[in-house]
Amino acid sequence: MKYESTRGSKTLQSSTGAIIRGIAEDRGLYVPVNVPKLPLSVAAMKGMTYQQIAFHVIGAFFDEYTEDELRDIVARAYDSKFEAPQVVPLVKAGKAWFLELYHGRTAAFKDMALSILPHLMTTACRKEGETDKICILTATSGDTGKAALEGFADVEGTEIVVFYPHGGVSQVQERQMVSQEGKNTHVYAIEGNFDDAQTGVKKLFADEELAARLGSLGVKLSSANSINIGRLVPQVAYYVYSYVKMVENGALKDGEAMNIVVPTGNFGNILAAYLAGEMGISIGKLICASNENKVLTDFLASGVYDTHRDFHVTNSPSMDILVSSNLERLLYLLSGRDGQLVASLMNDLETSGRYQAPAALRAKLAAFYGGYCTQYETLETIGAMWRENGYLIDTHTAVAYKVYEDYLAATGDERPAVIAATASAYKFAADVARAIGLDESKVRVLAGASGEVTGFDYVKALEKATSVRVPQGLCGLENKPVRHRNVCAAAAMKDAVLESLHAI
Ligand SMILES: *Cc1c(COP(=O)(O)O)cnc(C)c1O
Repeated sequence: MKYESTRGSKTLQSSTGAIIRGIAEDRGLYVPVNVPKLPLSVAAMKGMTYQQIAFHVIGAFFDEYTEDELRDIVARAYDSKFEAPQVVPLVKAGKAWFLELYHGRTAAFKDMALSILPHLMTTACRKEGETDKICILTATSGDTGKAALEGFADVEGTEIVVFYPHGGVSQVQERQMVSQEGKNTHVYAIEGNFDDAQTGVKKLFADEELAARLGSLGVKLSSANSINIGRLVPQVAYYVYSYVKMVENGALKDGEAMNIVVPTGNFGNILAAYLAGEMGISIGKLICASNENKVLTDFLASGVYDTHRDFHVTNSPSMDILVSSNLERLLYLLSGRDGQLVASLMNDLETSGRYQAPAALRAKLAAFYGGYCTQYETLETIGAMWRENGYLIDTHTAVAYKVYEDYLAATGDERPAVIAATASAYKFAADVARAIGLDESKVRVLAGASGEVTGFDYVKALEKATSVRVPQGLCGLENKPVRHRNVCAAAAMKDAVLESLHAI
């Protein structure tokens, strides 16, 4: 399978080459020259484990890996570091099925891809005879950073540098990152928001002077963000898996369409659902749920992508994003692979902060429905879900459920729906605790806190009040020593990279 750029340059890459490079030379994103069909029917996949389905789905995209290599990679990625034996349990609550993608080490769905990416990448390097050290640069809205750090910590031949928005992530998320161990890990808080971090990282990838300087040191840059195809493809696997399980448990008949609801930021996770549909599973609507940073809701309604708006720091911070990178891949696929059109739209975005999809392209967006949920509604939804169903959801998953309820009310489309449950409630414990009625004084008592109530006290109190187990990766976090204390200006990210690599 070959990979081409979304911006029209004609150089093709192998899957291993695309994974190592992360982003194409013309700054486009890699997509497969055709989306492969599922190698097995749904009936044939019934009864399979997560690992088996992942092996077949990923193998269809990344056929340069031998079967033995891929089987080994999948086995090492989805092992006992996932706390649920099924890897991704599918749980019915309220009006939908929740695909719990957060049972990995960092308690968010980013683990699904970042547990496997380091193995895909190091094997790719070996196969391509790559001798340079790979330096992973990552901008994070909170969850990618930690998952990437966990995935790459002490992986031979790699360094990893993570940038997160100072004050833009939850206390639990921040402590997870700044306490990261591993001699090749580097973490920086930047003075700016996620978009500043992401734009900064994209600039570093395009910086020829930096590339030359690193090249002379035997270092190549790559990405662990969802712009890397090695991150996107593993996510397709769980949508295929969810369809098979829905058929197995009788919620769906084989061939019947299911709706998928995804709380969306960078558009990676929902794009993976779209690709699962292109591979052959039957999908009705793809419901794209945003928080108050509803640039995607507006885009799906109007065809105009406009970043000229206030940026909101919300209680679903991993979706506080105004530039959704992976939308570029969707535009490319829906426009019949028109690289020139995509390059010109992305150029409009860079120069004027907005673009307008041509009418023909807009018409194709009908497979998607966009909606958004306010912060207040997010908390209301968590409270109602807990009271009515005894099911605890995090703020991002709540955004998805509320938008799904709105969708049901607006359309009456009652086809079975799977919601991507993207994080453990404990990652956003303070908001979730408040949402289920634990105010600060109750938390103080439940957690036995004496001084100021911290994010960690909310974790303790929430566990006492709900009896839902705290994920292993979040236990004892408050006592972990802080190892990374760097804060830098967005303009100083290049120096941060050089400093991390001891190049200055
Ligand atoms: C990253 C993230 C999202 C958004 O996913 P995208 O692939 O960026 O659209 C949603 N919820 C959580 C908890 C996340 O960490």
